Amino acid sequence: GEPIEISGFSLDPTVSIGISQYPESSRDRDDLLRNAKSAMGQVKASGGGEYLFFSAGMNEVARDRLLLGTALRRAIAGDCLRLEYQPQVRPDSGELYGVEALARWRDPEFGVIPPGRFISLAEEIGEIEAIGRWALREACRQMAVWRDEGVHVPVVSVNLSPLSFRGADLPDFVAGLLQQYGLPGECLTIEITESAAMALTAGMLDIIHGIRALGVGLSVDDFGTGFSSLSNLANLPVTEVKIDRSFIDKCLQESRLQSLVMAVIGIGQNLHLTVVAEGVETEAQRELLKAHHCPVIQGYLFSRPLAPADIPNWIRNVAGARGRG
Ligand code: C2E
Ligand code: MG
Ligand code: MG
Repeated sequence: GEPIEISGFSLDPTVSIGISQYPESSRDRDDLLRNAKSAMGQVKASGGGEYLFFSAGMNEVARDRLLLGTALRRAIAGDCLRLEYQPQVRPDSGELYGVEALARWRDPEFGVIPPGRFISLAEEIGEIEAIGRWALREACRQMAVWRDEGVHVPVVSVNLSPLSFRGADLPDFVAGLLQQYGLPGECLTIEITESAAMALTAGMLDIIHGIRALGVGLSVDDFGTGFSSLSNLANLPVTEVKIDRSFIDKCLQESRLQSLVMAVIGIGQNLHLTVVAEGVETEAQRELLKAHHCPVIQGYLFSRPLAPADIPNWIRNVAGARGRG
């Protein structure tokens, strides 16, 4: 571990060691080496500089990932993913502002896999662009169906991974969808997480500007969880900011969090951005956000994410309740 000098550079070598034992965990020489490598891989993946004994669980984890990855590829190719839509409402009137499209996957063998799990898997196995484009197409198709049926959903938000902004043809792809489904760009908003928004390269920014030029909105998701730079926020062509659920969750108990939420609402007002509070679960949270003029709220208090067929009913019920109220 002592530093060494090479061509005037000082390097700090570390060593990562994987250990496997015969006959406890390995049957023969090849097995010994394979398992030792597997353990070493695990050490490296968690930062290196340590040793680790091989255990049977390591292969199981690797095998599960391989099987799940294969199943995910199959699901994407076979159009087996679905989108659910969570209503976003205005806190004073309860009027529908828009819906967020959230991906769902139920595999015949593995059951329901939450998006938190399969989205990161898709990023690792190179399928995330396919999911992003599928979600854009599916959300636009659904918007066109609602419009045909006279169901008024003003805007749909689609979550995109930063890896989706590597394809320079993304603006053309989105323009093609809007044209195919007869939608104005204002019907669509793209959500990227705050940490992704802060790590955009110049090329990715060009792509985002290309999409914004179509009238499509840009929303910064999970705002407050990454290390946002406010100058970045001012420079990005952002139209919306979503305050992360973790703030809403505790803002009634912690006055500092409450002040932060109010500050973000203020930033939104000054920069002319729509602020959406995520994860609103209680009436007290709604009252607080309403009192501070938060423009839009989203959460289980109003609705869980719904299958597309349930959206017309939800809108009718809300409109009915408003009429009565
Ligand atoms: P997100 O974009 O921040 O979405 C909000 C998440 O909060 C959703 O979880 C939603 O179901 C959940 N949620 C909404 N209201 C409440 C509430 O009142 N209380 C609580 N406890 N939770 C609430 P979900 O559907 O499990 O999605 C998790 C994350 O997975 C999303 O977070 C998003 O980052 C990602 N994701 C989902 N669909 C897609 C997709 O199509 N593409 C990409 N790239 N990511 C997606
Ligand atoms: Mg989102
Ligand atoms: Mg979020």
